[in-house]
Amino acid sequence: MLIETEGLTRHYPSGEGVVAALEDVSVSMAPGEFVAAMGPSGSGKSTFLNLIGCLDRPTRGRYRLAGEEVARLSTNRLAAVRGEKIGFVFQSFHLLPRADALANVEMPMLYRGIPRRIRRERAAEALARVGLESRMHHTPSQLSGGQQQRVAIARALVNGPELLLADEPTGALDSRTGLEIMALFQALNRAGVAILCVTHDADVAAFAGRTLRFRDGRMFEDTRYPPVDAAAMLKQSFS
Ligand code: ADP
Ligand code: MG
Repeated sequence: MLIETEGLTRHYPSGEGVVAALEDVSVSMAPGEFVAAMGPSGSGKSTFLNLIGCLDRPTRGRYRLAGEEVARLSTNRLAAVRGEKIGFVFQSFHLLPRADALANVEMPMLYRGIPRRIRRERAAEALARVGLESRMHHTPSQLSGGQQQRVAIARALVNGPELLLADEPTGALDSRTGLEIMALFQALNRAGVAILCVTHDADVAAFAGRTLRFRDGRMFEDTRYPPVDAAAMLKQSFS
């Protein structure tokens, strides 16, 4: 398994008591799966994603990523695992405003001792993979929302992660651009990248092959289904 959690729990202190942001979640995800996490605001989706992304540690419970027990890792080792195995995509892109697309995509390689020439080469390859070969020297303000999200996806891919984590990746995009991003996710997934995508939108979850549903910090449903083909839908709706 790529991901295995058992009784995964995260409590936050709040006044006198605690908020149970995530409670007792046991779930597995195989390499190469495309999974959506759904639920209303405050249901624990981001908390779950942050734990899976090794950005946070559980209050209780176990989490194995690619066979490694994450709770036992030192902070340094945790950061290394995160850098090697996981790419992140967020609703608001989180790009450096003054850096061009190439420099933004180079970022995750800066602290890994990779020579500049190789960094440039890999960043250019990652940008080509998301269809932005002709936009490498544009800064975020010179790019559309969809193009900015593609830069963020190229940045997430540049270290060759096994797992892509996305928190509402289409939340800031119009429906057509969102569909284009989901078609890109499906292409990456077909090439072997596992994806865990948080969304409150059932239309977005339909492009995954499986949905985990959250409510009040608990995962109460886990369903599998044949995914809708985003590229086909794009053709049908917009050509
Ligand atoms: P979602 O992403 O589904 O909207 P979250 O995982 O962000 O939900 O939040 C789940 C619950 O945990 C909410 O009640 C939220 O207020 C609480 N929570 C999240 N992060 C923190 C934090 N850093 N400190 C205190 N409470 C938090
Ligand atoms: Mg959230």
